[in-house]
Amino acid sequence: MHFENTLSFARSMDKNDPLKKYRNRFHIPKYKGKNTIYFTGNSLGLQPKSTKKYIQQELDDWAKLGVEGHFHAKNPWMPYHEKFAKLIAGIVGAKPHEVVVMNQLTINLHLLMVSFYKPTKKRYKIICEAKAFPSDQYALQSQVRFHGLDPQKAIIEIAPRKGEHAIRHEDILKAIEKHKDSLNMVLMGGVNYYSGQVLNMKEITKAAHDAGACAGFDLAHAVGNISLELHKWNTDFACWCSYKYLNSGPGGVGGIYIHERFSKDSSLQRFAGWWGSKKETRFSMPEVFEAIPTAEGWQMSNAPILSMAAHKAALDIFHEAGFKNLIAKSKIMTGYLFFLLKEIQKKQPGLIEIITPFNEKEHGCQVSLLMLKNGRSVFNRLQNKGVISDWREPNVIRIAPVPLYNTYEDIYKFYQILMQEK
Ligand SMILES: *Cc1c(COP(=O)(O)O)cnc(C)c1O
Repeated sequence: MHFENTLSFARSMDKNDPLKKYRNRFHIPKYKGKNTIYFTGNSLGLQPKSTKKYIQQELDDWAKLGVEGHFHAKNPWMPYHEKFAKLIAGIVGAKPHEVVVMNQLTINLHLLMVSFYKPTKKRYKIICEAKAFPSDQYALQSQVRFHGLDPQKAIIEIAPRKGEHAIRHEDILKAIEKHKDSLNMVLMGGVNYYSGQVLNMKEITKAAHDAGACAGFDLAHAVGNISLELHKWNTDFACWCSYKYLNSGPGGVGGIYIHERFSKDSSLQRFAGWWGSKKETRFSMPEVFEAIPTAEGWQMSNAPILSMAAHKAALDIFHEAGFKNLIAKSKIMTGYLFFLLKEIQKKQPGLIEIITPFNEKEHGCQVSLLMLKNGRSVFNRLQNKGVISDWREPNVIRIAPVPLYNTYEDIYKFYQILMQEK
């Protein structure tokens, strides 16, 4: 792809963008009366203009129908979550009965570990990435302690090599091999929240299985950002949140994937609730739990309809735009961002180091910049010019142009502001 570092080039890319109409389907936050350059879709995706209407529908039905809404709302609440199976399956590369939308991310991570982390005297170790998102670290440590084990001994963290920022794939495979006799589970972020690195989930799954362990992924930064093929990769389980790239609102409902080979596996423990029990008998309230023989069998509580309405509004846009089209645009956009950042490195040596891998298979839309000087003041200046980016201690700025609502012009303007650094 041929890129140019001019505003007119960026504008012509926007003009010829087949997905350009989707930007107008979102509310773009304003700063000093002007649209911001919003680069934090990796943290909280923007609100679709249609979200209000979707939520209003459920509020109206609740007002009109009360409890009857469970069956007689325009979108009956009882089976509301079922609407998501196909939409989400297409985004994570699963069969519809392998996914369900429920709860939130950290809770789901715990519930999945109840089923999949079954340490024995011999096999009790978990391999994860060093400096995982704190919530994941806390979840892992507390699960290990829950089983009476010592996190120091049970959790094996894989870190980038000294002087590097991305984890080498071969180092993950080596660690799996090294610990294969005591390994119980590999659980990693599919896309690292800090560096933006995409892991080779297919090969990690295979290596974990070869070692006799299971493999699961936290897809918080992957879902809606990169293409996933969880079923084909034979991944055992995964979970995600919906408020980052999926634009479903702060604290929005999360989701899980469980490979179909486990749906009827009664040897798996799970924490059960009525929403996971067989629909035919749910309301006759049998005393013995009988699970729905799909991922739905992991549900516990009845569905948070208002949050799900926001999720539906957002996923309908994904579906309309076509996830493959979005990924294709995302690759070009991030390619353009890399191109401009490299221009900065040429003209402003010593200002930034790009810590996100450049190889297209190893990044999604997020690019993380290690600020080599004046980090905080550059960040503040960006903010003052209406660029919403994100600062991570000690000195990283994360930028995530997302294909649904960002423009090439956004990326170019960001570049211009960085270039002005003295
Ligand atoms: C965003 C994020 C979380 C947040 O967890 P919640 O339970 O949704 O609050 C957890 N883990 C990772 C890797 C994340 O990126």
